[in-house]
Amino acid sequence: MHIVSEATCREIMGRDDAFAAVEAIFSAMARGDAYNFPVIREAIGHADALYGFKSGFDRAGMVLGLKSGGYWPGNEKKGLTNHQSTVFLFDPDSGRPMAMVGGNHLTALRTAAASAVSIKHLARRDARVLGMVGAGFQSAFQMRAAVAQRDFDKVVGWNLHPEMLGRLEATAAELGLPFEAVDLDRLGAEADVIITITSSFAPILSLAQVRPGTHLACMGTDTKGKQEVDAALVAAATLFTDEVAQAAAIGECQHAVAAGLVDAAAITPIGAVIDGQHPGRSSPDEITLFDGTGVGLQDLAIASVAVAKAIDKGMAQSVAV
Ligand code: NAD
Repeated sequence: MHIVSEATCREIMGRDDAFAAVEAIFSAMARGDAYNFPVIREAIGHADALYGFKSGFDRAGMVLGLKSGGYWPGNEKKGLTNHQSTVFLFDPDSGRPMAMVGGNHLTALRTAAASAVSIKHLARRDARVLGMVGAGFQSAFQMRAAVAQRDFDKVVGWNLHPEMLGRLEATAAELGLPFEAVDLDRLGAEADVIITITSSFAPILSLAQVRPGTHLACMGTDTKGKQEVDAALVAAATLFTDEVAQAAAIGECQHAVAAGLVDAAAITPIGAVIDGQHPGRSSPDEITLFDGTGVGLQDLAIASVAVAKAIDKGMAQSVAV
């Protein structure tokens, strides 16, 4: 069995690896070649932690496994990341363990790759202004991956906690782009593409604030009760997602579906657009919304690339099991 450490993943895995792995697995999911198993997530009654598993099988890529992990709110005080995850891969022919891979860096890369895939396939070609809602750990990864997809010339950003906006400003500077902190009305009025990546439980952006033709990638809502945009905006948009069942149950679409404003059948898996089964954006005035709920197969796909690269570079440790 191979062990690929968190440090090795940070050293060898980049945005391009993540983008290719995530685009391919979304396509395999839409074709029915790969499927996610039900998610387990439990409050363990210790250290205020939420812990669980995301798992699945990719028959096309022959990747079987799970991501184990969760959220430990006290970690930051100990100098650790609050979100902790580890991916385990198994041989689909025998069930034997094949690899254990650090999952923290890979989770950020695969989450950013998902919104970048949506921007590639759904944003207007002439998109120039990127709007960022949220300035937490994931936001820098999101911005870096997004700017590779269109010729953006400016980033505008908003965050509930303005003291965190420095992260967006620094990331834009690293990418050679001007950054401006704005209120939500200006953000909606200026941005062609908007990424939401917060842990909000109430709508932040409303339909009235968003221009026709905008593409939104709503990435923060991955749990029942969370919400980043109002249900009217979801209902007005053409909807795409990684996995329809998750979007309707725990994603940004959950509130519009529960209110009867959206039928889950109207949400298209992004893989269908990647494969050319669905045209994606049909007009320059259409609002498109990608509900990125985060699926286990994304984790398995990127982890299997990390294992292959680590073995190739002599950076995977081997242990007999
Ligand atoms: P973080 O803790 O580093 O940052 C949290 C962000 O949310 C900050 O911008 C903070 O200001 C903002 N925020 C907190 N409470 C808020 C509120 N009540 N209203 C509005 N904004 C609020 O978290 P992170 O690691 O950057 O993750 C952000 C979100 O993305 C989380 O909800 C996380 O669960 C989610 N996430 C989703 C996926 C996926 O695949 N879709 C993957 C990883 C993380």
